[in-house]
Amino acid sequence: MMLHIIFILAGYVSCSIRSRLCWLRKHYIFGNGYVEKNVKPIRVYSQQTKRSFVCCSSNTQFNHFLPSETELLNGKVIYSVAAAMGHNKEAHPECNSRVPAIIDALEKMKLTSEFRSMEVIELEKFRPANVEDIASVHEGAYVSGLEKAMDQASEQGLILIEGSGPTYATSTTYQESLLAAGAGISLVDAVVAASKIRKDPPVGFALVRPPGHHAVPTGPMGFCVFGNVAIAARYAQRAHGLKRVFIIDFDVHHGNGTNDAFYDDPDIYFLSTHQDGSYPGTGRINQIGRGDGEGATLNLPLPGGSGDRAIRDIFDEVIAPCAQRFKPDIILVSAGYDAHVLDPLANLQFTTATYYMLASNIQQLARDLCGGRCVFFLEGGYNLTSLSNSVADSFRAFLGEPSLAAEFDNPAFLYEEPSRKVKEAIQRVKHIHSL
Ligand SMILES: [Zn+2]
Repeated sequence: MMLHIIFILAGYVSCSIRSRLCWLRKHYIFGNGYVEKNVKPIRVYSQQTKRSFVCCSSNTQFNHFLPSETELLNGKVIYSVAAAMGHNKEAHPECNSRVPAIIDALEKMKLTSEFRSMEVIELEKFRPANVEDIASVHEGAYVSGLEKAMDQASEQGLILIEGSGPTYATSTTYQESLLAAGAGISLVDAVVAASKIRKDPPVGFALVRPPGHHAVPTGPMGFCVFGNVAIAARYAQRAHGLKRVFIIDFDVHHGNGTNDAFYDDPDIYFLSTHQDGSYPGTGRINQIGRGDGEGATLNLPLPGGSGDRAIRDIFDEVIAPCAQRFKPDIILVSAGYDAHVLDPLANLQFTTATYYMLASNIQQLARDLCGGRCVFFLEGGYNLTSLSNSVADSFRAFLGEPSLAAEFDNPAFLYEEPSRKVKEAIQRVKHIHSL
């Protein structure tokens, strides 16, 4: 924990105050996300926030905020930002400095729309997820129960949601969680629109929090409130007729929420790599789906210490063949950066170069299999420096530019990977799934 606090402090110090103020003005003081007509814009970070600003339209197709045709024709990356500044708890790893740290790094490396107006597009306006979106994955009782919990949070400032593991909530959590899910949905709209006019549409990246992949149909869990990636998968089916969705989850933890949401579903393939024995303890190799969905869930727990070599082999031997066989209409990615060797919450050995490889290979996979339609969703990643450098290098991969990982990765932190155990795990999963 001490190590983690040091990392957070280091992240804070490294951010220039000037660019932070500039960004704060753009993203919080004026809000970022669609504000319903006739409702006053609010400060998303304010403890006084009123829930009335959230738009609960039930119009599935609704999106007034697609990028221009020129942007869709030229863009290589399109990102949306929902930083959830009000959803914060002191000394908690899933804190509100995570997204600003990423934006600061992107700005310093001139990777934002401000510096690359043709290639990098920020989707500045988007609608929050509505009740229909949320209810496509979560049970109604959960959504209404959460509203009640938020009322309590408004009075007490901060609460832990009961029965949800370590998930905290503040008075703004509910709205900000709707924004996070909406940021992903809107990227699906944009990427699909671009794919209708070109073969290599921009890759979407939702820089959002709270993360989503632990949130189960019945409730929040493990820092996650709504299943952002699961909600986007259902939306892609419902709004765009993209029936077959392939979800890759390379967060260090098992994406149990996404796993559970689609466990019976043959049309949504869920593939998760995660550290064996890490939170929440699910995702065993023999959990492969159920009923019609049997075989459409692939869990690959990795021994502690697995790193770049392991995941490169897994990409070639498991991820790519699975996706090729499944023939997806869109690929969605639960992109967690907590498998990085410097991350304080787990013990894998991914590096910045690993994340560059994953971004580049998944982009290519989407181009080969589903018209380039691909959206990444930020999940974990708690060392602000390795998180932001790895996201920046993922952007570089999408732009087709060389990696700068050699500047950030220090081989002195790495130790020998458990190659024999990794090989065994790969062989076993290939056998179970007939790959
Ligand atoms: Zn994680």
